Amino acid sequence: MMEQTITAQSVWQKLANKQPVIISGPCSAETELQVLETAIRLAKTGKVDMLRAGIWKPRTKPGNFEGVGTEGLVWLQKAREITGLPFTIEVATAKHVEDSLKHAADILWIGARTTVNPFSVQEVADALQGVDIPVFVKNPVNPDLDLWIGAIERLQKAGIKRIAVVHRGFSNYGNTEYRNAPMWHIPIELKRRMPDMPMLCDPSHIGGRRDILLEISQKAIDLDYDGLMIEAHEEPDKAWSDAKQQITPEQLCDMLNKITWRHETSQKEEFLNALAKFREQINHIDDEVLTLLGNRMKIAEKIGLYKKENNITILQTNRWNEILEKSVKKGEKLGLTKDFILHLLDAVHLESINRQNRVMNSHEE
Ligand code: PEP
Ligand code: MN
Repeated sequence: MMEQTITAQSVWQKLANKQPVIISGPCSAETELQVLETAIRLAKTGKVDMLRAGIWKPRTKPGNFEGVGTEGLVWLQKAREITGLPFTIEVATAKHVEDSLKHAADILWIGARTTVNPFSVQEVADALQGVDIPVFVKNPVNPDLDLWIGAIERLQKAGIKRIAVVHRGFSNYGNTEYRNAPMWHIPIELKRRMPDMPMLCDPSHIGGRRDILLEISQKAIDLDYDGLMIEAHEEPDKAWSDAKQQITPEQLCDMLNKITWRHETSQKEEFLNALAKFREQINHIDDEVLTLLGNRMKIAEKIGLYKKENNITILQTNRWNEILEKSVKKGEKLGLTKDFILHLLDAVHLESINRQNRVMNSHEE
């Protein structure tokens, strides 16, 4: 039905060119009909680069639907033939890798519950030794950046060259608005350490519900992610897993149309000039802020000396409460949130106490 066939290589090229890649499909492959119907309707949107589906599902409790197994791979091959779209699936064991390669899966992904376990990641990496296939590594369920990077390194050591990461949020105890808290600073730090690593966002598993998918996707695009993996199902409410977070292919299309696609850099001269000016202003302001903070600390040291001479404690709670109250009020007038002011003052206070402590406990006269 598609005039053009997309391959894993072209998906990779798109990622490398920083054109957002869209991967979509059901949480789980359930029946042949469901896989084909979803795939055909996704292809019709003209916005999807690659299909996804879970074949083996790691479920929290036994007795839930655990995936159709190898049979589902044949359905995905059929979907690829009909739509021209490549497919990606989750692997967690050497046997999964073997079956996936037999059925010519285009890209493999390691799920969040596998990334947490170095034994499992190593098993998958060993099974991939000498195979040239791209692999996506989802973040581990717990917020541990080193564990995420460790999984990437295990694959690199096995000779896998094309690796991308998928940010799907982190488990947290208790109810929050997210199914998995995004903790955006963790993927941002990963990007800082591995700037060439393509990064996708999986808003479906972060959100856990349909109504916040757009907001999460927009945030990821604003943060310069390279693509999105979003669950879509021909009849979401009847899905055998993750029903609440799945949307129809047509809803996906609407949602993608609502996203404002931004790029990290723009070549327009006018834009670049304006940006350079603003950055210059920010540099000046940062400079001033630092100079003022330096001065503030010098005064704190003087107070330290004074307290030492008069034998007074460093921490005087009343004084500190007074500063906090005043600053929060002032900050609010300036449009600064209470949370920000408290964080900032906390850091300033700690530095100030350390300085005073040093002065008071030094034995130089
Ligand atoms: C999935 O993508 O269907 C899945 C199980 O994801 P995760 O490993 O992020 O939970
Ligand atoms: Mn799912």
